[in-house]
Amino acid sequence: MAVREILESLDWGPAPESDKFAREWLDEHGPDFGMYIDGGWVTPESGENFETHNPATGELLGTISQAGPADVDAAVAAARAALPGWSSTEGHVRARYLYAIARQVQKHHRLLAVIETLDNGKPVRETRDADIPLVARHFYHHAGWAQLFDETFPGYGPVGVCGQVIPWNFPLLMLAWKIAPALAAGNTVVLKPAEFTSISALAFAAICDSIGLPPGVVNIVTGDGRTGALITEHDDIDKVAFTGSTEVGRIIRKATAGSGKALTLELGGKSPFIVFEDADIDSAIEGLVNAIWFNQGQVCCAGSRLLVQESIAEKFHEKLRSRMAKLRVGDPMDKAIDMGAIVDESQLNTIKKLCQLGCDEGGVMWQPPTELPEQGCFFPPTLFTNVTPSSTIVQEEVFGPVLVALTFRTHKEAIALANNTRYGLAGSVWSQDIDTALEVARSIRAGAIWVNCTNQFDANAGFGGYRESGFGREGGREGMYAYMRPKDASAANDETGSESTQSPTAPSQDAGEFLDRTAKMYIGGKQKRPDGGYSLDVAGPAGTVGQVGRGNRKDVRDAVEAACAATTWANVNAHSRSQILYYIAENLEQRSSEFAARLSSMTGASPSDAAAEVADSVAEWFRWAAWSDKYDGAVHETTMHGLVLAVHEPMGVVGVTCPDALPLHGFTRLVAPLLAMGNSVIAVPSEKHPLAATDLYQVLETSDLPSGVLNIVTGIHSEFVPNLSEHDGVDSMWVGTGDVAEVEIASVSNMKRVWKADLSASDDEVLRQATHVKNIWLPHGL
Ligand code: NDP
Repeated sequence: MAVREILESLDWGPAPESDKFAREWLDEHGPDFGMYIDGGWVTPESGENFETHNPATGELLGTISQAGPADVDAAVAAARAALPGWSSTEGHVRARYLYAIARQVQKHHRLLAVIETLDNGKPVRETRDADIPLVARHFYHHAGWAQLFDETFPGYGPVGVCGQVIPWNFPLLMLAWKIAPALAAGNTVVLKPAEFTSISALAFAAICDSIGLPPGVVNIVTGDGRTGALITEHDDIDKVAFTGSTEVGRIIRKATAGSGKALTLELGGKSPFIVFEDADIDSAIEGLVNAIWFNQGQVCCAGSRLLVQESIAEKFHEKLRSRMAKLRVGDPMDKAIDMGAIVDESQLNTIKKLCQLGCDEGGVMWQPPTELPEQGCFFPPTLFTNVTPSSTIVQEEVFGPVLVALTFRTHKEAIALANNTRYGLAGSVWSQDIDTALEVARSIRAGAIWVNCTNQFDANAGFGGYRESGFGREGGREGMYAYMRPKDASAANDETGSESTQSPTAPSQDAGEFLDRTAKMYIGGKQKRPDGGYSLDVAGPAGTVGQVGRGNRKDVRDAVEAACAATTWANVNAHSRSQILYYIAENLEQRSSEFAARLSSMTGASPSDAAAEVADSVAEWFRWAAWSDKYDGAVHETTMHGLVLAVHEPMGVVGVTCPDALPLHGFTRLVAPLLAMGNSVIAVPSEKHPLAATDLYQVLETSDLPSGVLNIVTGIHSEFVPNLSEHDGVDSMWVGTGDVAEVEIASVSNMKRVWKADLSASDDEVLRQATHVKNIWLPHGL
């Protein structure tokens, strides 16, 4: 074609990236790929392996080892053996290793980008410009955390041996998100890449080998979901970090429940992309292309739900369609391509099935007349209109290049639609009005919000979800905590131990004054009789000291309903929240002797011990009142020009079971920080000594605490705590007493964050457990 003709047609010519070096690498290391265990290359004990293909062409790239139990055991044993050495290696030295990895990633940038594209099908433009630079950035950034570890996180150490299982959508990047913070904190790892995309993880192992990383610090085992399960269920793993589907996340939550393993889950999403009528429409259209067609939509935080204000919807959809028609789908090795291949035929079929279902349910599917390659796993950019908020295609994660479009009229409606999902990973807000942008950003229940931008990621900004999108953060200071634990994490919660501080002396003479009172429940700011109408005797050393209501699942239901209705507490400004907590402290103090007498009568504590417990409780209310307006977020330094605001947000509705030890102080230690951070609480006081908590009702009523913010349900824990743990309206459980395993298992349905509440945990730990971090990205420029 003549230059003149090219200029006239302005068509794109092919711009293929060379695969020469990648082919040489594959020839050198393949075609049968081993695994990297204890600093050496091994083949699986079973001899089993499977093929890996280029999804754009179907070409066989090699065979991958299927690790079985013996291989996983060997990898875990190697990581365990390497742990003492690595965790005691000076931060500066760990930093040097991470830095060396970062340099090697940069040095082999093109090779890694091409390998990733061949194995995954994503455009080389993306692997070259997004995935691999971010991988290097992660290792550089975390070299810094290793260097600063001891001074930045005093009192913390590594968790131990980490089992990490990652998906196929950003193979090397997900590996970096997992391995870099783990190594920085002094952990050792066993990582399994996804079966479709194992090769770049093996290339990474070769890098670790080349820089002389001590054997066993990083172990890469390959295989399918069976291998993943062997890792996550392994007895000698201390922490599991998983990214993938919510379905497998649930399985892992169940499998690890009660095992004492630390767990972080980065799961699916159905993120809203909200466009207000005052948005810069052309920027929003380009943002949308990035939000949903980047990586063929196989992005957990893809902006897959478009919400456009009705007044501009028609114009916006028209522009969107004409932009979609210009997207080029084809050979991912072509640098001028917008969309490459879907990772595998099975994923392609899932996308097709969900689209068919979308049509069957009345949705209107539109696809531009885009030319697709004849071979390989390709799917065109797709838009669904005429859908409703409850349509399957609007609720389910497609994990493909499929956008659903809804409209809204008011800001309130936009927020309600945005939050009408079981997920909470990310969201994008487009408006030129700063009030609209920030108010909506704060109102969306998700871990990352991008204002007038989308899909921004950086090593220094935590990423992770709310609700069924999982828990834990990856990146930045927030992400480091996922790989650390307090060095002195002890059995402070051990009730027997704590109880020994109370001397079993005779009850106070005042005890008798409580004898004839049956304490009710405290629900929605009112004292309520238990639904079942039964009460229980509360025994003290000298006999019965009172009665409490015997709670059941209906009381739990009512309490959760009241707590959900009171989540506006989160919007009460921190100063006002602290004032209310101060009032509680003051009012409790005024009644110190009454509470001390109650404690003595219930527990047999000596008058001085009981008085000390009340004083501790008063101090605790003061303490958390003080914290209310001081747990600041952060402004992260990222590679984006603009501000990234890390905001602490309450988790929502939290259920708390309180221990028998220190029935008043323990109750306060768990409930007060949650209230200080803006959560609504359903507290279950000590089963044995509940009256100190029920006596608090009057204190609460005279302290202006809004109704429903704190609800108290008494009774036999085993009769209703399971209902609380299962309840989808409860966002998190703090287990101060009882079997944490049972709570973890029961909370699988909505992926609650569960904390084995430790009365001796540091304030910092408690504050982190009481909040989520939301990162709000605000680019700016003239
Ligand atoms: P999975 O959740 O199945 O896989 C993620 C990783 O977990 C893979 O390494 C997988 O192994 C492994 N795995 C599978 N089963 C188990 C198990 N029982 N125990 C431990 N590990 C296991 O996601 P898929 O890759 O199959 O994708 C399915 C759907 O998940 C997608 O359509 C998408 O909706 C969602 N997804 C979400 C992602 C996110 O980032 N939120 C990322 C990827 C997928 P292997 O794949 O090797 O069999």
